[in-house]
Order: sequence, then structure tokens, then C-alpha cells
Amino acid sequence: MARFPLSPAARAFKRRFFPDATLAEWNDWRWQLRARIRDLAGLERVFALSGDERAAVARHRGPLPVGITPYYAHLLSRDDPSQGLRRTHIPVGAEYVRAPGEYDDPLGEDAHMPVPGLVHRYPDRALFLTTGFCSTYCRYCTRSRLVGEVGGEHTFSLPQWERAVAYIAATPQVRDVLLSGGDPLTIHDDKLGWLLGRLRAIPHVEFIRLGSKVPMVLPQRVTKDLARLLGRHRIWLSLHATHPDELTPEASEALDRLADRGVPLASQTVLLKGVNDDVATMTRLMHGLLRNRVKPYYLFQSDPIAGSAHFRTSVDKGIEIIRGLRGHTSGYAVPHYAIDAPGGGGKVTLVPDYIQGRDGADLLVENFEGKVYRYHDPEGTLGSAALLLAAE
Ligand code: SF4
Repeated sequence: MARFPLSPAARAFKRRFFPDATLAEWNDWRWQLRARIRDLAGLERVFALSGDERAAVARHRGPLPVGITPYYAHLLSRDDPSQGLRRTHIPVGAEYVRAPGEYDDPLGEDAHMPVPGLVHRYPDRALFLTTGFCSTYCRYCTRSRLVGEVGGEHTFSLPQWERAVAYIAATPQVRDVLLSGGDPLTIHDDKLGWLLGRLRAIPHVEFIRLGSKVPMVLPQRVTKDLARLLGRHRIWLSLHATHPDELTPEASEALDRLADRGVPLASQTVLLKGVNDDVATMTRLMHGLLRNRVKPYYLFQSDPIAGSAHFRTSVDKGIEIIRGLRGHTSGYAVPHYAIDAPGGGGKVTLVPDYIQGRDGADLLVENFEGKVYRYHDPEGTLGSAALLLAAE
């Protein structure tokens, strides 16, 4: 097996909580999956749980169980329940409270499945839900209704994949397929390779993307064979990144392997209250992604999933963060900030309003320092409304 880095923090964690694991086991993604922390006893062995966390874990039933790889557990605070990354993975009582405007399926995906597991909402794109399995379960997951429940309402099987592939093959307008789930990179190479090969063989499928959090939570999964497989099938990867602390030497190795094999990397981040909702943290994350050859792509306003209100910021906060990035750092480091419109309306990108108004033939625009400049724009109308409002 190819050598994999082991950061000093992970080494210390391993020595303390998994002393019997060999280095080869720790660096083997299958061992990481088998050794996941999945229940109250497993959590209490590592973390000093609060009463709220303990009660929330004890009452949990159904999808979105607890699941944390030993590797990822080393990034969570053992003593502080308010630490951002810990909050994203250890349940609390607020998860059981449905706030106004929250839904089990906020994006209306289930209503747009022509065959089970395939969402076809927009003409030229299809979302292929490949598995309900993830190596770690994020408490704010948009698909919390369908992940991690063996024998639950949503099942994933080879015959289902066959039907989804047949639907795409018979639907020539689908030129873009997004593989998601669950996490498709938890699927073994031979099965994943089979699926990618089938999709690649469909002439009208031009673009295949794969959404995954694996390089951040289970970087050992990115073996050289997997990177080669994704490169060979010309796959683009959408990386789910939450916080700069995730960008460890291990994650960097995984991202390097992918980039070296020609896999284009772009990130998606969910804006989460108390986790990454400040300009400094977000800047560190975006800079860290760029250093690892990942283009920051989307910053999402948190979807209104049932029981997620404790993670949701106002939209003002997202705009404030984009304002704090744009112009203050490289344009490459600035993601699109978007709301995924509830009910299946699609992504709506939001930007700070830099138009200050109009003065005759001049458009008045504000730069990142708050200074107003004139741009001669004799045929334009933008800014007129602002002027009228100011005059009222
Ligand atoms: S890895 Fe993705 S699909 Fe899995 S629980 Fe986290 S957000 Fe949901």
C-alpha cells in the first residue's frame, strides 16, 4: 500500500484511542469504516458528552445516524460541545425541533424522480443518488431523510442503478450527470468503475460530476487506484468542505492525488452558524482550498431541513461574508453564494449590491473599500431605481 501521511495530531489521537490499530490499518479506508464511532458508547469512549448530546444520541432512530471515522474524530474537540466541527457531527436536542419553513425534503427531490434514485428536475442535468451510505454523517445534511438507514424507505441496489442508467441513456437531453448520495466515494472501485464506464459509454453524457466529502473525512480512501479511476473517466469532483481545520496533511495528500491525475476540483461549503460564519474562518478555508488546487465554487445558505435551525444564519450573514472576501483577496478565492430555492426552484446566486445609483449618463459603483466611482454608461438604466428611491 502506498505511504500516507499521518499528522502529529492524528498520531496522538490514534495512540490514545486506537492503540491496537497498526499504522497500515489506520491508513486503510476499510479499517476506518469498520472502526467508525456509531453509538453512545463509542462517543463516550472519546468525548466528554454534554447532557444534551447524550440525550439526543440516545433518542435517535431512523436515518442520519451517528457516524464518525476515527480519522475525522481527531479533528473534533473532546471537551468542548460548542466547537464548530464537533457540532456538525454530534447530535443535539435542537435536531428534533422542526422550525417554521423546514421540510424533510426541502429541495422537492422526491417529487422529481422518474425512476428511484434519479432526480431529473432541470432539462440537461440529472442527479444520480448512488448510495445512502456516508463515512461520516453531517447533522445538517440536505438528504438527511435518506442517508444511513439500512432497510429504510430509500434503498439503493444494482437493479436500481441499471434503471437509472437506462433512463439517462434514453433521455438525450441529459448531458450532465451529478453522482451523489450519500457519498459515492464510499463505493468500492470495481463497482464505481462499472457505473462510470456505463455512464461514459452514453454518447450524450458530456459531463460527469461527483459530489463527495470523503477527501476531508476519510482521505485514506483516495488511493492512487481511485485517483487513476476518476482521472481515466474524466470526472469532476465537487468537494464538500466545511472548515479550514479539515485541510490536514492527510486531506492535502488526497487532493494532490486527485489533482495530479487531472481530476478538476471545486468546493461546496454550507454556511453554518457558529462553525464557519465569519469572514476570517471563511477566508482561511478558501485560501486553504486554493493552496490544494480546489476552486472555491459554492457557498450555500443552509437548506431548511427539519431540525437544522440551530445551524442557519440569516442571509445577511452570507452577503457580509462575500463582501468580506470580494476585492479583499484573489477573485479565485471567492465562491458563489447561493440559496437552493425550496421546492425545487434551483440555485439562486446572491451578491452584495455594489450599484450605488446613477447620475445622468454615469453609473455609480462602490468598490470593496466602500469608495464610490463613476462609470460612463450613457445607454444604461441600472441604478435609476436607486436614484428615484433616494429622491423620494
Ligand atoms: S457527507 Fe454529504 S450526503 Fe453524507 S451526511 Fe454529509 S452532507 Fe449528507
